[in-house]
Amino acid sequence: MKISVPRTLAIGAVLFVLGAAAGAQQRPERFAVGTASAARGQTATGVISVPAGSDAGYDIPVAVIHGARPGKVLALAAGSHGTEYASIIALERLIQQLDPRDIAGTVIIVPLINPASFQRIVPHLNPVDGKNMNRFFPGWLQGTQTERASFVLTREVIEKSDHVIDMHGGDIDESLRQYSYWTKTGNAAQDSISRDMVLAFGLDHIIISADRPRDPNASRYLENTATLRRKPSITVEAGRAGTVEPEDVQALIDGTLGVMAYLRMLERPVRLVEHPVWMERVVSVASEASGIFYPLVERGSYVAEGMKLGYITDYVGKTLSEARAPAAGIITFIRAVPSMMQGETIANIGVIAR
Ligand SMILES: [Zn+2]
Repeated sequence: MKISVPRTLAIGAVLFVLGAAAGAQQRPERFAVGTASAARGQTATGVISVPAGSDAGYDIPVAVIHGARPGKVLALAAGSHGTEYASIIALERLIQQLDPRDIAGTVIIVPLINPASFQRIVPHLNPVDGKNMNRFFPGWLQGTQTERASFVLTREVIEKSDHVIDMHGGDIDESLRQYSYWTKTGNAAQDSISRDMVLAFGLDHIIISADRPRDPNASRYLENTATLRRKPSITVEAGRAGTVEPEDVQALIDGTLGVMAYLRMLERPVRLVEHPVWMERVVSVASEASGIFYPLVERGSYVAEGMKLGYITDYVGKTLSEARAPAAGIITFIRAVPSMMQGETIANIGVIAR
Protein backbone atom coordinates (compact mmCIF):
# COMPACT_ATOMS: atom_id res chain seq x y z
CA MET A 1 0.00 0.00 0.00
CA LYS A 2 1.37 3.36 -1.02
CA ILE A 3 1.49 6.07 1.62
CA SER A 4 2.15 9.43 0.04
CA VAL A 5 4.75 11.83 1.33
CA PRO A 6 3.66 15.50 1.48
CA ARG A 7 4.90 17.54 -1.48
CA THR A 8 6.93 20.67 -1.02
CA LEU A 9 5.17 23.98 -0.57
CA ALA A 10 6.49 25.16 -3.94
CA ILE A 11 4.92 22.29 -5.88
CA GLY A 12 1.75 22.71 -3.83
CA ALA A 13 1.59 26.40 -4.81
CA VAL A 14 2.05 25.59 -8.51
CA LEU A 15 -0.68 22.96 -8.34
CA PHE A 16 -2.93 25.41 -6.53
CA VAL A 17 -2.46 28.02 -9.29
CA LEU A 18 -3.04 25.41 -12.02
CA GLY A 19 -6.11 24.16 -10.15
CA ALA A 20 -7.51 27.69 -9.78
CA ALA A 21 -6.90 28.37 -13.47
CA ALA A 22 -8.77 25.21 -14.46
CA GLY A 23 -11.92 26.36 -12.70
CA ALA A 24 -13.19 27.17 -9.24
CA GLN A 25 -15.30 23.99 -9.08
CA GLN A 26 -12.31 21.70 -9.42
CA ARG A 27 -11.35 19.70 -6.35
CA PRO A 28 -7.89 20.18 -4.84
CA GLU A 29 -5.11 17.99 -6.25
CA ARG A 30 -4.55 16.27 -2.91
CA PHE A 31 -7.32 14.73 -0.86
CA ALA A 32 -6.78 14.06 2.84
CA VAL A 33 -8.84 12.22 5.44
CA GLY A 34 -7.15 11.96 8.82
CA THR A 35 -3.49 11.11 8.13
CA ALA A 36 -4.28 9.55 4.71
CA SER A 37 -3.36 12.17 2.10
CA ALA A 38 -3.47 11.04 -1.53
CA ALA A 39 -2.17 12.85 -4.59
CA ARG A 40 -4.40 12.66 -7.66
CA GLY A 41 -4.21 9.19 -9.19
CA GLN A 42 -2.95 7.58 -5.96
CA THR A 43 -4.17 5.56 -2.99
CA ALA A 44 -3.11 6.52 0.54
CA THR A 45 -3.85 4.81 3.83
CA GLY A 46 -3.75 6.20 7.34
CA VAL A 47 -5.89 6.73 10.42
CA ILE A 48 -8.55 9.03 11.75
CA SER A 49 -7.60 9.70 15.38
CA VAL A 50 -10.30 9.65 18.03
CA PRO A 51 -8.90 11.81 20.85
CA ALA A 52 -8.78 10.53 24.43
CA GLY A 53 -11.42 11.92 26.79
CA SER A 54 -13.31 10.36 29.68
CA ASP A 55 -12.05 7.04 28.28
CA ALA A 56 -9.27 6.01 25.85
CA GLY A 57 -8.76 7.36 22.33
CA TYR A 58 -8.05 5.11 19.34
CA ASP A 59 -7.29 5.16 15.63
CA ILE A 60 -9.87 4.35 12.93
CA PRO A 61 -8.19 2.93 9.79
CA VAL A 62 -8.95 4.76 6.53
CA ALA A 63 -7.99 4.62 2.86
CA VAL A 64 -8.32 7.43 0.33
CA ILE A 65 -8.43 6.42 -3.34
CA HIS A 66 -8.01 9.71 -5.18
CA GLY A 67 -9.00 9.17 -8.80
CA ALA A 68 -6.98 10.35 -11.77
CA ARG A 69 -9.83 12.64 -12.84
CA PRO A 70 -12.19 14.90 -10.83
CA GLY A 71 -15.62 13.66 -9.87
CA LYS A 72 -17.86 12.78 -6.94
CA VAL A 73 -16.59 11.91 -3.48
CA LEU A 74 -18.06 8.61 -2.28
CA ALA A 75 -17.52 7.37 1.29
CA LEU A 76 -17.84 3.66 2.12
CA ALA A 77 -18.12 2.70 5.79
CA ALA A 78 -18.36 -0.63 7.62
CA GLY A 79 -17.66 -2.15 10.99
CA SER A 80 -19.54 0.20 13.31
CA HIS A 81 -20.69 -3.25 14.34
CA GLY A 82 -17.28 -4.93 14.30
CA THR A 83 -18.51 -8.52 13.97
CA GLU A 84 -20.59 -7.96 10.81
CA TYR A 85 -17.67 -9.51 9.01
CA ALA A 86 -18.74 -9.74 5.35
CA SER A 87 -19.06 -5.94 5.07
CA ILE A 88 -15.65 -5.36 6.68
CA ILE A 89 -13.95 -7.90 4.39
CA ALA A 90 -15.71 -6.44 1.32
CA LEU A 91 -14.21 -3.01 2.07
CA GLU A 92 -10.74 -4.50 2.71
CA ARG A 93 -11.03 -6.08 -0.75
CA LEU A 94 -12.20 -2.84 -2.38
CA ILE A 95 -9.18 -0.95 -0.97
CA GLN A 96 -6.96 -3.39 -2.90
CA GLN A 97 -9.18 -3.67 -5.96
CA LEU A 98 -10.05 -0.06 -6.78
CA ASP A 99 -7.41 1.44 -9.08
CA PRO A 100 -7.26 5.25 -8.80
CA ARG A 101 -6.18 5.42 -12.47
CA ASP A 102 -9.64 4.13 -13.47
CA ILE A 103 -11.62 6.48 -11.21
CA ALA A 104 -13.16 9.91 -11.68
CA GLY A 105 -13.60 11.35 -8.20
CA THR A 106 -12.51 10.07 -4.83
CA VAL A 107 -13.42 7.06 -2.69
CA ILE A 108 -12.99 7.27 1.09
CA ILE A 109 -13.04 3.79 2.67
CA VAL A 110 -13.48 3.28 6.42
CA PRO A 111 -13.53 -0.53 6.72
CA LEU A 112 -13.63 -0.95 10.51
CA ILE A 113 -15.11 1.82 12.65
CA ASN A 114 -15.15 -0.35 15.78
CA PRO A 115 -11.88 -2.35 16.07
CA ALA A 116 -12.52 -3.16 19.76
CA SER A 117 -15.72 -5.02 18.81
CA PHE A 118 -13.86 -6.90 16.04
CA GLN A 119 -10.90 -7.82 18.24
CA ARG A 120 -12.91 -8.96 21.26
CA ILE A 121 -15.75 -10.52 19.18
CA VAL A 122 -18.43 -8.40 20.84
CA PRO A 123 -21.58 -7.99 18.70
CA HIS A 124 -23.72 -4.84 18.45
CA LEU A 125 -21.73 -2.62 20.84
CA ASN A 126 -18.43 -0.85 21.37
CA PRO A 127 -17.06 -2.83 24.35
CA VAL A 128 -15.17 0.25 25.60
CA ASP A 129 -18.29 2.23 26.55
CA GLY A 130 -21.12 -0.23 25.87
CA LYS A 131 -22.70 1.97 23.17
CA ASN A 132 -24.04 1.09 19.71
CA MET A 133 -21.68 2.83 17.26
CA ASN A 134 -24.50 3.54 14.80
CA ARG A 135 -26.75 5.48 17.21
CA PHE A 136 -24.77 8.53 18.43
CA PHE A 137 -24.22 10.63 15.30
CA PRO A 138 -23.29 13.39 14.67
CA GLY A 139 -21.40 12.83 17.95
CA TRP A 140 -19.72 15.24 20.34
CA LEU A 141 -16.18 15.62 21.62
CA GLN A 142 -17.17 15.74 25.31
CA GLY A 143 -18.86 12.31 25.20
CA THR A 144 -17.53 8.79 25.65
CA GLN A 145 -15.49 7.00 22.97
CA THR A 146 -18.44 6.15 20.70
CA GLU A 147 -19.63 9.78 20.68
CA ARG A 148 -16.13 11.13 20.03
CA ALA A 149 -15.60 8.60 17.21
CA SER A 150 -18.94 9.66 15.70
CA PHE A 151 -17.87 13.31 15.89
CA VAL A 152 -14.58 12.78 14.03
CA LEU A 153 -16.30 10.56 11.42
CA THR A 154 -18.89 13.29 10.79
CA ARG A 155 -16.18 15.92 10.33
CA GLU A 156 -13.56 13.88 8.44
CA VAL A 157 -15.68 11.50 6.36
CA ILE A 158 -19.31 12.60 6.04
CA GLU A 159 -18.67 16.33 5.59
CA LYS A 160 -15.97 15.64 2.95
CA SER A 161 -18.26 13.36 0.89
CA ASP A 162 -21.02 13.85 -1.69
CA HIS A 163 -22.51 10.38 -1.04
CA VAL A 164 -22.19 7.69 1.63
CA ILE A 165 -22.81 3.94 1.56
CA ASP A 166 -22.94 2.49 5.09
CA MET A 167 -22.48 -1.28 5.08
CA HIS A 168 -23.91 -3.67 7.64
CA GLY A 169 -25.06 -7.28 7.79
CA GLY A 170 -26.45 -9.87 10.14
CA ASP A 171 -24.40 -9.79 13.33
CA ILE A 172 -23.14 -12.96 15.07
CA ASP A 173 -26.65 -13.66 16.39
CA GLU A 174 -28.57 -12.69 13.22
CA SER A 175 -29.32 -14.88 10.18
CA LEU A 176 -30.00 -12.21 7.56
CA ARG A 177 -31.01 -12.12 3.90
CA GLN A 178 -29.45 -9.33 1.82
CA TYR A 179 -31.32 -6.03 1.56
CA SER A 180 -30.77 -2.29 1.36
CA TYR A 181 -32.47 0.76 2.86
CA TRP A 182 -33.76 3.66 0.81
CA THR A 183 -34.21 6.69 3.09
CA LYS A 184 -37.10 8.85 1.91
CA THR A 185 -36.65 12.45 3.06
CA GLY A 186 -39.45 14.22 1.17
CA ASN A 187 -36.91 16.18 -0.91
CA ALA A 188 -37.78 14.86 -4.38
CA ALA A 189 -34.45 15.60 -6.08
CA GLN A 190 -32.39 14.02 -3.32
CA ASP A 191 -34.73 11.03 -2.97
CA SER A 192 -34.57 10.34 -6.70
CA ILE A 193 -30.75 10.08 -6.58
CA SER A 194 -30.70 7.87 -3.46
CA ARG A 195 -33.42 5.68 -5.01
CA ASP A 196 -31.26 5.22 -8.11
CA MET A 197 -28.32 4.42 -5.82
CA VAL A 198 -30.15 1.50 -4.13
CA LEU A 199 -31.30 0.26 -7.54
CA ALA A 200 -27.74 0.54 -8.91
CA PHE A 201 -26.40 -1.28 -5.84
CA GLY A 202 -28.53 -4.17 -7.04
CA LEU A 203 -29.87 -5.93 -3.92
CA ASP A 204 -33.40 -7.00 -4.86
CA HIS A 205 -35.05 -6.38 -1.46
CA ILE A 206 -35.30 -2.73 -0.36
CA ILE A 207 -36.72 -1.29 2.85
CA ILE A 208 -38.25 2.18 2.44
CA SER A 209 -37.09 4.04 5.51
CA ALA A 210 -39.22 7.10 6.29
CA ASP A 211 -38.99 7.23 10.09
CA ARG A 212 -35.40 8.33 10.66
CA PRO A 213 -34.74 11.47 12.82
CA ARG A 214 -35.02 14.81 10.93
CA ASP A 215 -32.75 16.91 13.20
CA PRO A 216 -29.18 17.13 11.79
CA ASN A 217 -27.93 17.62 15.36
CA ALA A 218 -29.54 14.34 16.49
CA SER A 219 -29.21 12.24 13.35
CA ARG A 220 -28.27 9.06 15.31
CA TYR A 221 -27.31 6.92 12.31
CA LEU A 222 -24.22 7.36 10.10
CA GLU A 223 -26.16 7.31 6.84
CA ASN A 224 -28.84 9.58 8.23
CA THR A 225 -26.15 12.11 9.18
CA ALA A 226 -25.13 12.33 5.52
CA THR A 227 -28.75 12.28 4.31
CA LEU A 228 -29.70 15.21 6.58
CA ARG A 229 -26.74 17.15 5.18
CA ARG A 230 -28.36 16.83 1.72
CA LYS A 231 -25.99 14.10 0.53
CA PRO A 232 -27.96 11.26 -1.16
CA SER A 233 -26.83 8.13 0.70
CA ILE A 234 -27.84 4.52 1.35
CA THR A 235 -27.40 1.68 3.85
CA VAL A 236 -26.90 -1.92 2.71
CA GLU A 237 -26.95 -5.25 4.55
CA ALA A 238 -25.28 -8.54 3.56
CA GLY A 239 -23.68 -11.32 5.57
CA ARG A 240 -24.80 -13.21 8.64
CA ALA A 241 -23.97 -15.01 11.85
CA GLY A 242 -20.20 -14.56 11.95
CA THR A 243 -19.60 -15.91 8.44
CA VAL A 244 -17.73 -14.47 5.45
CA GLU A 245 -19.57 -16.07 2.53
CA PRO A 246 -18.20 -15.22 -0.95
CA GLU A 247 -21.74 -14.43 -2.21
CA ASP A 248 -22.20 -11.79 0.50
CA VAL A 249 -18.78 -10.18 0.02
CA GLN A 250 -19.24 -10.17 -3.76
CA ALA A 251 -22.70 -8.61 -3.54
CA LEU A 252 -21.24 -5.71 -1.54
CA ILE A 253 -18.31 -5.25 -3.94
CA ASP A 254 -20.46 -5.49 -7.08
CA GLY A 255 -23.03 -3.16 -5.53
CA THR A 256 -20.39 -0.53 -4.80
CA LEU A 257 -19.05 -0.74 -8.39
CA GLY A 258 -22.64 -0.40 -9.64
CA VAL A 259 -23.18 2.78 -7.63
CA MET A 260 -19.82 4.14 -8.81
CA ALA A 261 -20.94 3.54 -12.41
CA TYR A 262 -24.22 5.38 -11.70
CA LEU A 263 -22.27 8.31 -10.16
CA ARG A 264 -20.01 8.35 -13.26
CA MET A 265 -16.96 7.52 -11.16
CA LEU A 266 -16.25 4.37 -13.21
CA GLU A 267 -16.72 3.82 -16.93
CA ARG A 268 -19.01 0.80 -17.02
CA PRO A 269 -22.65 0.23 -17.92
CA VAL A 270 -25.25 1.39 -15.38
CA ARG A 271 -27.69 -1.36 -14.43
CA LEU A 272 -30.65 -0.67 -12.16
CA VAL A 273 -32.33 -3.71 -10.56
CA GLU A 274 -35.68 -3.99 -12.33
CA HIS A 275 -38.30 -5.53 -10.06
CA PRO A 276 -37.13 -5.26 -6.46
CA VAL A 277 -39.32 -6.20 -3.52
CA TRP A 278 -40.11 -2.89 -1.78
CA MET A 279 -40.81 -3.18 1.94
CA GLU A 280 -42.70 -0.28 3.52
CA ARG A 281 -41.92 -0.96 7.19
CA VAL A 282 -40.20 -3.41 9.50
CA VAL A 283 -41.96 -5.24 12.33
CA SER A 284 -39.66 -6.49 15.08
CA VAL A 285 -40.63 -9.55 17.14
CA ALA A 286 -39.22 -9.63 20.69
CA SER A 287 -38.94 -12.70 22.89
CA GLU A 288 -41.34 -13.02 25.81
CA ALA A 289 -39.08 -15.44 27.66
CA SER A 290 -35.44 -16.22 28.41
CA GLY A 291 -34.16 -19.67 27.48
CA ILE A 292 -33.30 -21.74 24.40
CA PHE A 293 -34.56 -20.48 21.03
CA TYR A 294 -35.64 -22.89 18.27
CA PRO A 295 -36.36 -21.25 14.88
CA LEU A 296 -39.09 -22.63 12.60
CA VAL A 297 -38.58 -20.35 9.57
CA GLU A 298 -35.55 -19.32 7.55
CA ARG A 299 -34.13 -15.93 6.60
CA GLY A 300 -35.73 -14.60 3.43
CA SER A 301 -38.87 -16.71 3.70
CA TYR A 302 -42.35 -15.20 3.37
CA VAL A 303 -44.57 -15.60 6.43
CA ALA A 304 -48.31 -15.06 6.77
CA GLU A 305 -49.74 -13.18 9.75
CA GLY A 306 -49.99 -15.51 12.75
CA MET A 307 -47.48 -18.06 11.44
CA LYS A 308 -45.24 -19.63 14.07
CA LEU A 309 -41.67 -18.26 13.82
CA GLY A 310 -40.08 -20.30 16.59
CA TYR A 311 -40.35 -21.19 20.26
CA ILE A 312 -38.39 -20.84 23.48
CA THR A 313 -37.87 -23.60 26.04
CA ASP A 314 -36.29 -23.61 29.48
CA TYR A 315 -33.01 -25.48 29.94
CA VAL A 316 -34.74 -28.83 30.59
CA GLY A 317 -36.99 -28.77 27.53
CA LYS A 318 -40.28 -27.25 28.70
CA THR A 319 -41.78 -24.83 26.17
CA LEU A 320 -42.09 -21.35 27.69
CA SER A 321 -43.24 -19.28 24.75
CA GLU A 322 -44.14 -19.41 21.06
CA ALA A 323 -43.41 -16.51 18.72
CA ARG A 324 -45.88 -15.77 15.91
CA ALA A 325 -45.68 -13.28 13.05
CA PRO A 326 -47.63 -10.11 13.99
CA ALA A 327 -47.80 -9.21 10.28
CA ALA A 328 -47.26 -10.89 6.92
CA GLY A 329 -43.96 -10.26 5.17
CA ILE A 330 -40.36 -11.28 4.49
CA ILE A 331 -38.09 -12.54 7.29
CA THR A 332 -35.22 -10.05 6.85
CA PHE A 333 -33.41 -11.77 9.70
CA ILE A 334 -34.03 -14.35 12.40
CA ARG A 335 -32.02 -15.15 15.51
CA ALA A 336 -29.06 -17.34 14.53
CA VAL A 337 -28.17 -18.72 17.97
CA PRO A 338 -30.09 -20.63 20.67
CA SER A 339 -29.19 -18.08 23.38
CA MET A 340 -32.25 -15.96 24.11
CA MET A 341 -33.05 -13.36 26.73
CA GLN A 342 -36.48 -11.88 27.31
CA GLY A 343 -36.96 -8.73 25.21
CA GLU A 344 -34.30 -9.61 22.64
CA THR A 345 -35.13 -9.78 18.94
CA ILE A 346 -36.39 -13.09 17.53
CA ALA A 347 -36.93 -11.84 13.99
CA ASN A 348 -37.53 -8.77 11.83
CA ILE A 349 -40.31 -8.93 9.25
CA GLY A 350 -40.31 -6.60 6.25
CA VAL A 351 -43.88 -5.74 5.29
CA ILE A 352 -44.20 -5.61 1.51
CA ALA A 353 -45.23 -2.19 0.15
CA ARG A 354 -48.58 -1.92 -1.64
ZN1 LIG B 1 -24.75 -3.30 11.70
